[in-house]
Amino acid sequence: MIDFAAANAALGRADGILIVTHSDPDGDAIGSLLGLGNALRAQGIKVACAVDGGVPAFLQFLPHADQVLSTLPGMQADLLICLDANQPERVGQVGAQGMASCSTVINLDHHVSNTGFGDIQLVVPEAAAACEVVFHWLRSLSLPLTVEVAQPLLTGLVTDTLGFRTSNVRAATLQIALELMGPGISLYDIVAQTFEKRPIADLLLWQEVLPSLTLEEGVAAAQIRVEDCWRAGLEPGEDGDLPSLLRSTAESRVAVVFREMKDGSVSLSMRSKPPCDVAQVAVALGGGGHAQAAGATIAGPLQAARERVLPLLHAAANGGSATTRS
Ligand code: 5GP
Ligand code: MN
Repeated sequence: MIDFAAANAALGRADGILIVTHSDPDGDAIGSLLGLGNALRAQGIKVACAVDGGVPAFLQFLPHADQVLSTLPGMQADLLICLDANQPERVGQVGAQGMASCSTVINLDHHVSNTGFGDIQLVVPEAAAACEVVFHWLRSLSLPLTVEVAQPLLTGLVTDTLGFRTSNVRAATLQIALELMGPGISLYDIVAQTFEKRPIADLLLWQEVLPSLTLEEGVAAAQIRVEDCWRAGLEPGEDGDLPSLLRSTAESRVAVVFREMKDGSVSLSMRSKPPCDVAQVAVALGGGGHAQAAGATIAGPLQAARERVLPLLHAAANGGSATTRS
C-alpha cells in the first residue's frame, strides 16, 4: 500500500481544495469525488468538487451530489486532487482550470495506464476502484465512515466491479465493501439505483446497431453511428452499455464498440476476458484504461477506424502483442 504521508501533509498545508474527476463520469468517478469531498467537508475543510457537465442523473441519489459544480466561475484553491483519471487530459475543462491555478496536484487513481502526472501519486493499480484508494486514504487520516462518505464509496466499488464480478475483485475488496456497509448502507439500494435502471432507449439503440455485429478471431465488434443514437433517442456518443453486452457472449474474448462522434472522430470502448489485455491496445492508440475495459478516441471515419483497430484486437484476442502502432 502506498504511503499517504505526503498527501496528508499537502492537505494540512492547503488553503482551499479542488477535487475533480474524469469527464463523462461513471460511478467510481462520482463515488470517489463525493466520498472524499464529503469526508473532508465534514472536518470543516474548504472543498469544492467539480466535473464537466455535473453529476449524471443516475448518480444524483448520492448524498450532496447537488453540491458538485459543473463549471468553475472563480477559483480559490491551491491544492488540486484528480480522481480516477489516468492522465491529466481526462479531467476536462474544470481540471485544466485547476491545473492552471493550483500549486500542488495529487493524482489518485487505479488505472494501470496512469502516466504518473502530478506532484503526489496515490496510484494503486491492483485496487478494484478509485474508491478503494480513497477508503485507505481516509483510514490513514482516521476520518469516520459516515453514511455520506460510505454510500458514495460503496457505489464506486460496486459499479467499477460490475457488481463484484470483475477479475480484479479480491478478498480485500469484499472486506472493504463489508466495512462500507457498516454505517447501515444498503447494497441492494445501490444495485437498484445503478444496474436496474437501464433506459428503454438503450435497447432501442441495440435494435438499431446490432445488425453491424461481427465476430472474427474471438473479437465481437459493433458500430454506432450518430444517426443510430438520434433514432434511439440518445445523444451521440452514448453506447447503451453495448460493450458489456458484446463481452458477455460465450464466443468472444475481446469486444469493441466503435462510436462515431459528432465531430467525426471515433470513440472506442474495448472489453476483454482474462488473460486478454485491451489496455495496451488503448495506450497504443493514445487512450487508456484497464486490462479488461479500456478506451481511446481516434480519427474517423468509422471504416478507417475499424481497419486500424481490428488487427490490433485480433492479436490481443489471440495472445499476440498488440503494441504495433498503425
Ligand atoms: P468505457 O469503455 O466505459 O468508456 O471506458 C472503459 C475504461 O477505459 C475506463 O476505465 C476509462 O477510464 C477508460 N477510457 C475510456 N476512454 C478513454 C480515453 O479516451 N482515454 C483514456 N485515457 N481512457 C479511456
Ligand atoms: Mn475507476
